[in-house]
Amino acid sequence: MVTHDEEHKHRAFLAAAQLKHAWQFQRRGQRPDDDPVEIDIPVGWHALLNQLFADVQQRVPEAERGGFRWRRMRALQGALEIRFDGVRERMTAAIARARDAAAVTCETCGHSGLRRQVAGTHRVSCDAHFLDRLIQSDVAGEQAARRWWATPHPGLGERSPAEVAQAGPPPDVLLDLALRRAMPATPRPNGAHRQRLQGVWPVLRDHFGERLRSLRLAEFEPGSGPGGTLLAQIAGEIDPTAQAGAATRLARAGFSDLRLRLVTDGDLQAPARANDPWSAMLALEASVTIPRYQPAVPR
Ligand SMILES: [Zn+2]
Repeated sequence: MVTHDEEHKHRAFLAAAQLKHAWQFQRRGQRPDDDPVEIDIPVGWHALLNQLFADVQQRVPEAERGGFRWRRMRALQGALEIRFDGVRERMTAAIARARDAAAVTCETCGHSGLRRQVAGTHRVSCDAHFLDRLIQSDVAGEQAARRWWATPHPGLGERSPAEVAQAGPPPDVLLDLALRRAMPATPRPNGAHRQRLQGVWPVLRDHFGERLRSLRLAEFEPGSGPGGTLLAQIAGEIDPTAQAGAATRLARAGFSDLRLRLVTDGDLQAPARANDPWSAMLALEASVTIPRYQPAVPR
């Protein structure tokens, strides 16, 4: 949702950048709608983009500016996507720096943040704006969320979420409460679904060995086609490449419709501090166990 105020800030940001670094935004075509530069950057990232424009200004000598232009800049699932024409080598370091900065900068306010998902959408958010996103996804609706926000809660020492949030950065207990309210319905797979899903066990068991503790299913709506979130609880730390490797194995075994998410015991003990709080809470509150695969015994 883009508010009027955000739209205004976005226009002001773009106008200032185009005025200051006109050569970086030149068009190829003659008509004003020819081959436009697409820029859709959230307000929290404006400062780091301005830094990038200034870096490029400094790195690209005037003689080489003719072929250069930004083509597209946008936030895509919590990552800064940048496309441009011209002078590649000189740009690599500056762009890498901007992407690294974006990965830890709240898209809404520019304070430090983490890339976190809410209902399948990834964005970089500080704790306060992560909380905002969760409240906007309250499954009970906007009115109920507003009521909850203003009502004293035993888990918050009889203070309301609003009072707690006003006092400073939201504590984990408040993030956990908001996460829980945003959880989708627990799936109800039928016999055929269960049978198919049991086939995931040997694939992931082969990949993770004894470290695979349990498998759970969430965000599963067979009415709207196959798919769903497969939560694998893994003992110990998870290395960052583990998810991609396991997802590839699953796809090869015919389960490319399932979104695999790995959660650790630590994630389940403190969902708000998990790498992926959404998945940790799904595992705790909104998922069903996929029973262990047991080969049929011949009689
Ligand atoms: Zn923020």
